[in-house]
Amino acid sequence: MYRITALLTAALLVTTLAATGVAAAEPPTPEAADQVLVRYRAGTTKSEREGVARAYGLTKVRGSANGRTEVVVAQGRSPATARRQLAADPNVVAVSANSWRELADDITAEPGFNALWGLHNEGQVVDGIGGTPDIDIDGLEALQVTRGSADVVVAVIDDGVDFTHPDLAAAAWINAGEAGALATNGLDDDGNGYIDDVRGWDFCENDNTVGPEGTDGHGTHVSGTIGASLDGQGIVGAAPGVGIMALRTFSGSTACTGGDAAIAAAIDYAASFGVPVINASWGGSDRSTVLEAAIGESNALFVAAAGNQGWDMDGGDPRFYPAASPTANIISVGAVDQSGALSSYSNFGVTLVDIAAPGDNIVSTLPGGFGVASGTSMAAPHVAGVAALALSAMDGTPSVAALRARILATGVPLASTAGLTATGRLVNAWRAVDVTGPVALPIDSHKIDVGSIVGTTVSTTMAWPAATDDLSGVKSYIVQRSLNGAAFATLTSATARSYKRTMAFGTPTRFQLFGRDRAGNVGAGAIGPTVKASLFQDGTSAARYTGSWSTVSVSGASGGRLHRSSRAGATVVFQTTARAIAIVARRGPLNGKARIFVDGVDRGTINLYRTSYQARVVVFSTSWATTASHRVKLVVLGTAGHARVDIDAFAFLR
Ligand code: CA
Ligand code: CA
Ligand code: CA
Repeated sequence: MYRITALLTAALLVTTLAATGVAAAEPPTPEAADQVLVRYRAGTTKSEREGVARAYGLTKVRGSANGRTEVVVAQGRSPATARRQLAADPNVVAVSANSWRELADDITAEPGFNALWGLHNEGQVVDGIGGTPDIDIDGLEALQVTRGSADVVVAVIDDGVDFTHPDLAAAAWINAGEAGALATNGLDDDGNGYIDDVRGWDFCENDNTVGPEGTDGHGTHVSGTIGASLDGQGIVGAAPGVGIMALRTFSGSTACTGGDAAIAAAIDYAASFGVPVINASWGGSDRSTVLEAAIGESNALFVAAAGNQGWDMDGGDPRFYPAASPTANIISVGAVDQSGALSSYSNFGVTLVDIAAPGDNIVSTLPGGFGVASGTSMAAPHVAGVAALALSAMDGTPSVAALRARILATGVPLASTAGLTATGRLVNAWRAVDVTGPVALPIDSHKIDVGSIVGTTVSTTMAWPAATDDLSGVKSYIVQRSLNGAAFATLTSATARSYKRTMAFGTPTRFQLFGRDRAGNVGAGAIGPTVKASLFQDGTSAARYTGSWSTVSVSGASGGRLHRSSRAGATVVFQTTARAIAIVARRGPLNGKARIFVDGVDRGTINLYRTSYQARVVVFSTSWATTASHRVKLVVLGTAGHARVDIDAFAFLR
């Protein structure tokens, strides 16, 4: 399953694989640059703080439990303006940008970090081979969110783990029922059938020595990729804070005497402790329903290497089990190289391999030092580590199905693996640990569409400000609508920040906006004001006509009638309380130009000429951020040869 292409001592690694420079502390997303950090005076009440937010048009992104500190975004103002205004408020003691800082024990300062292209690929040369920047799991970014919780445990079913390795000693899971003095008293203190099983169990030799075993290089390498410590020495794993349970079922690269019997016992052992993630960097071409039963009952995410035979497992080649098993809680992992290509040896399959992970030239821990290895054995622990990190970040205890779905959905599409795996994605730690949806702001613009035809409905376009997201960034928006106060129902999910929708006249309508981030999280909804579309006929008392106008009956016109003038200088003023006003007119071969003024401001001319007649057309539209009283005035210009202006109706939103 693996080949160790080079063995490096710890000292050699430090000299040959020197750390890169320190990354700049930039906000993780452009939206984060708009955030303002507010420190409230001690003793402020929730309603006082909400009052401040209202007064300055602030939307809260998050707040501390004691209410003293809040991250806010200013609506319709620059962050600098918001900070100036907040600084003058008596309830605020301090205000600043929400800066992003480096960890003092910077991840990139780990001496071997530069070799870990799977975590952070800048195109660096590893073992003589260069790569493509960002073909990685975004491990550096993820580790700035979480390093993983010690109570999240990954069981490594392998050939043992050398926990005497300085970069793995702190990662060992400890069985509390056999800890301390209980670990050496020769008794099965926790009554699970295994004596002194403090860090796992050796199912080959039936003892508690899981390493060093002299033949445990594979499991030690796998374990370093999952959880090598962030401690200023050697390397760092994808999830350095999580625990590793060592279950030895292999001797070298050969299954120990027990074969599948030992593996099934090891799976049951992990399940008995409620381990949520099992790494299986092994397999074979024989399918075992016994193993599948044990895996299915484990309630763990079973991360299985796809195998190194170069097989198309969906294309008639042999299959590698348990990666190819149909058991629902298995995630099967293919390997990619530093440039993102599927490794030549990696088995693949458009249904039987789920996702890809870094597998070539992976530097990790080995007994006595560090070394490079390649294989799907090295890809699987990247996924196991990401799953453990995601569990550490997620609220509560997600189901194994939810965890599996999250790992697959948060992978980043990788074109070179399209059609070779079920998702065509590269596993991504940063998106996997992003559990907070974007903060959306309400829809703040409703316009009536010029050129549309008015009937019982009017065509409108709504728009909204960008939502803000803490980590992975905003990917799309969901628009919901409530008619006449009924429940909200989803209208659309779109990447644009605007949406065209007809509105029925006379129906009070509310819209709710949600943001969805690149990790798939949907944030809280932002509900805008109630908006109602109205249509007043040309004869409305809200319209005042001056100069020479006549009323004419025209079939096809809104209400069957029009106000008509061909006299230059004739005017009509429509005044109402609205957030959008539109002039509805008839166009045709005898119609000409008019000039429009909105609240006294010249908005230029419109031309009602058309080669054939068309009634009920929105010929002019204007809108505002809020509802207020506004005047729209039309002046007939008296166009030579076709001077006519036919006012059909006035449409507005309020
Ligand atoms: Ca025991
Ligand atoms: Ca380390
Ligand atoms: Ca997010």
